[in-house]
Amino acid sequence: MKTEEQVREKLKELQADLFDSKSAIGNEFLKNNIAFIMKLNEIKPVYCDTIPKDLEEGVLYISKQYNTAIHLCACGCKTQTVTPFNRPDGWVLTESNGLVTLTPSIGNFSGQNPYHAHYFITDNKINWV
Ligand SMILES: [Zn+2]
Repeated sequence: MKTEEQVREKLKELQADLFDSKSAIGNEFLKNNIAFIMKLNEIKPVYCDTIPKDLEEGVLYISKQYNTAIHLCACGCKTQTVTPFNRPDGWVLTESNGLVTLTPSIGNFSGQNPYHAHYFITDNKINWV
């Protein structure tokens, strides 16, 4: 019996293999479905002075000192996603009772994977667009 954690690890390996392979014969179906499974539905805020080197998935690192939040793209592709806040050209970060909301939405159109991600973070929940 595998735990959900172990299954996710296996899926991550498979996902990496799929995106590495140049001969993507019939892999579109798998790519899209694994991408769907790997999507996160929740993110946990962690406050820090400086952004750590090794980022964990499912964590929104918030540096108030630098007015910047960073997280790994919630689709599972591990793209570092930087969202400066409380700046004229940035996002708005609101907090209540340990729940964070970032507005407007977050769109990841780059990264190593040929698909993008678009979602809202509202009260620590990831709502996919
Ligand atoms: Zn992504």
